[in-house]
Amino acid sequence: VPKPLNLIGVCTLCKRRHDNLGYSPTQRHPIKWLCWRCLPFAKWIYKMKTQQLDVYEMDAIFDGGEKAGQYLDQIGQTDLAKLSEDQFCEMFARFMEGFEVSMRGKMEAVRDTL
Ligand SMILES: [Zn+2]
Repeated sequence: VPKPLNLIGVCTLCKRRHDNLGYSPTQRHPIKWLCWRCLPFAKWIYKMKTQQLDVYEMDAIFDGGEKAGQYLDQIGQTDLAKLSEDQFCEMFARFMEGFEVSMRGKMEAVRDTL
């Protein structure tokens, strides 16, 4: 079944740019948009309770924050107002990477139990 295109948007799981990969288990379900790296987990996203996904997201936000904090420790600067533009972007890049890796890790850990 051809899927409508959603060219601009974020991946349901990792919140990075999706790769225009739409998935739904049946035509009655709304399409979830995913990136290539999260596509293997599409089926489990639908099987998981929303509340459980929320818990994983909160954990992943924390994990992303840890990565951002590690970067700030590495450069010896915790005053965000003193970061250069490049450092500010790098801090958030570390956050995003920490978040997405954490989310996929959680899905890998639970997918056999769903
Ligand atoms: Zn993704």
